[in-house]
Amino acid sequence: MSPTSSDRPWAGHPLARELDTALAAVREAGSLCREVGQAVDRGALAKPDRSPVTVADFGAQALICRALGEAFPADPVMGEEDSAALRQPDGAHLLRRVTGLVAARRTGATAEDVCAWIDRGCLADPAPRFWTLDPVDGTKGFLRGGQYAIALALLIDGELAAAAMGCPSLGPLADGDSAEGTLFAAVAGGGAWQMPLLDTGAPVAVRTSGVSDPAQLRFCESVEAAHSSHDNAARVTALLGVKAQPVRLDSQAKYGVVARGQAEAYLRMPNRADYSENIWDHAAGALVVIEAGGMVTDIAGRRLDFSLGAKLAHNRGVVATCGPVHAAVIGAIGALGLAD
Ligand code: AMP
Ligand code: MG
Repeated sequence: MSPTSSDRPWAGHPLARELDTALAAVREAGSLCREVGQAVDRGALAKPDRSPVTVADFGAQALICRALGEAFPADPVMGEEDSAALRQPDGAHLLRRVTGLVAARRTGATAEDVCAWIDRGCLADPAPRFWTLDPVDGTKGFLRGGQYAIALALLIDGELAAAAMGCPSLGPLADGDSAEGTLFAAVAGGGAWQMPLLDTGAPVAVRTSGVSDPAQLRFCESVEAAHSSHDNAARVTALLGVKAQPVRLDSQAKYGVVARGQAEAYLRMPNRADYSENIWDHAAGALVVIEAGGMVTDIAGRRLDFSLGAKLAHNRGVVATCGPVHAAVIGAIGALGLAD
């Protein structure tokens, strides 16, 4: 059920229907992910690049692409997954599970429907208007019972336009418990909100922290040192005089934590010169932080350029902050020679 119009502070925005559709789709995918998360076997397999993928990744992508295709048939989707592994003979048991999960929410869905919906998310080159989707961002977090996110964003002419980001293991309020999960919403120029993921509680505007002394900053980073150098983040924060220890979370939940003022910074310090970030790992979260009053750049202080296709090919790493501390963080990274 979608919120009533009085519960939709974005109702007057030109992209209100897009945001409503995205939020409803992410909610539905969130319920599927939580169901899989409670199962003993989360249906994991290794992709060719050895990263993990689960029945939840496939099921969430199928549901979201199906919903977007119904509401906006002309809009392509650049999603993280495709159905190739499910179509292999040894993927048949996973495909049966994914189909069961999707059919429980979309009566009559067949295995062929599920593969076709997943592959609706296979846009390769950017279009003037398209969606980008990470159906389960932070799959490693999902598998270990930690944070993960269902991250969906609309890009128009290479710019972030709308975002829906479900965080099923993040409490809905800053000091709440994690029973409900949190759904973040943002529209360009319109604001950012959070609401419970699985019921229709009213959206509440989120604002970044007002802390301006860099030494006071609380920061978060990846759990995985392979995704973000913990050592270099420690060097940067030591130079700023930061006393707080890093909070480590998987997924774009880190952007949500900065957006609602629970941390002043999210540092993603590259530890491989040849890695470019995927747009679906940042688009939704970045818009939520920007619309909550924060700043998002790469480690050299450059704007993230979402116009280039699947990769943030002109950027290195990510720094998302509450705003007032941003220049100091970028300055410290530069002073240590880490942005070169
Ligand atoms: P996180 O949960 O913040 O650790 O980020 C998870 C994302 O990291 C995954 O969706 C991957 O696309 C991405 N990733 C994989 N390898 C790397 C890498 N070497 N550097 C940065 N990000 C990576
Ligand atoms: Mg991801």
